Amino acid sequence: MINGSTRLFGILGNPVAHSLSPVMHNAAFRARGINAVYLPLPTSELAMALAGIKALGFAGISVTVPHKVAIMPLLDVIDPVAEKIGAVNTLLFKHKADGRLQCTGVNTDWIGANQALAEAIRLGGASVLLLGAGGAARAIGFGLREAGAQIFIHNRSQAKGEHLAAQLGCPCVTVNELRDLRADVLVNATSVGMQPNASTMPLEADLLSNFQVVMDIVYAPLETRLLHEAAARGCKTVPGSNMLLYQATAQWQLWLGEEPPVDVMRAALESVLAEKGTQR
Ligand code: NAP
Repeated sequence: MINGSTRLFGILGNPVAHSLSPVMHNAAFRARGINAVYLPLPTSELAMALAGIKALGFAGISVTVPHKVAIMPLLDVIDPVAEKIGAVNTLLFKHKADGRLQCTGVNTDWIGANQALAEAIRLGGASVLLLGAGGAARAIGFGLREAGAQIFIHNRSQAKGEHLAAQLGCPCVTVNELRDLRADVLVNATSVGMQPNASTMPLEADLLSNFQVVMDIVYAPLETRLLHEAAARGCKTVPGSNMLLYQATAQWQLWLGEEPPVDVMRAALESVLAEKGTQR
C-alpha cells in the first residue's frame, strides 16, 4: 500500500513505456514486503527532472535511452568503469556528513552481461568475439576487459568498430577475417535479430560451431534465431533476458544493500516477455 513512508524509485528515459524495469523491481518490492514503488519517469528535460528527483528524495534511479550519456555531467561522482564506458544506467543517492546530497552514476549493464556469461563459462582468459560497437557493446566490452577476457570486435561500420577496439586495446576483425576466427564465446551486441526482424542473424549459421558459448543480448524474441541455431550446433546459449535481469538485480543490490529476490524478478520479467509474444 502506498502511504507517507513509501520510498520512491524510477526510470528516467524517453520513451520509457516499453521498459521492463518497473515490472522486475516492483515484483521484488512486493515479494520482500518493502514499502517502495518503482515508477516510469519519461522526460526530455533531463536537468530539471534530476533536480526534481533530488528534491523529492528518490532513493534510486535507473537511466535509459537517450539519457545514459547526457546525464553524466550532471552527477557528483561517476564510478570508474562507467567513466570508461562513457554511460551510466544507475543513480545512487547518499547524504554526506555535511548534509549535502551526493549523486553517483554507475553502469550495471556490464555487470549484468558478465554475470549472465559467468553462468556458462569462466570469463578470465576466455576469448570472446563481440559483435557490435554501439552503447551496449561498449558496456559489455569494458566489462569483459574487467573480467580479463581476450576480446575481438566486429562491427558493420568498420570505423566505429576500430574506434571501440582501440579503446579496449583489442583487434577489430573484418567480415572476411570472421570466417577463420575461433573463440570460446560469441556475444551478439547488435540489434540484428530483434523483432520484427526476428528471422535475421548477425553471423552466418555455419560459423556458430566456432564457439562454445553464444550469448545474444537481444531479448525480443526470448529465443532469437541466433540462439536457436547455436543450440542446434551444440553451443551453450545465454539469452539476452539474463543480462537484462542481472543488470536489474545489481541495481537492487546497490540501492537496497541486500541480495535481491532473483527468482521473483526473473519470473516477472519472463512472464511479461511471454505475454508480449516474444517467442520466436
Ligand atoms: P546502438 O547503440 O544503436 O547500436 C546498435 C549496434 O547494432 C551497432 O553496432 C550497429 O552497427 C549494429 N547494427 C544495427 N543494425 C545492424 C544491421 N542491420 N547489421 C549489422 N549491424 C547492425 O544500440 P544498443 O543500445 O547498443 O543496443 C543494441 C541491442 O541490444 C538492441 O537490440 C537492444 O535492445 C539490446 N540491448 C539489450 C540489453 C540487455 O540487457 N539484454 C541491454 C542493452 C541493449 P553500426 O555501428 O554499423 O550501425
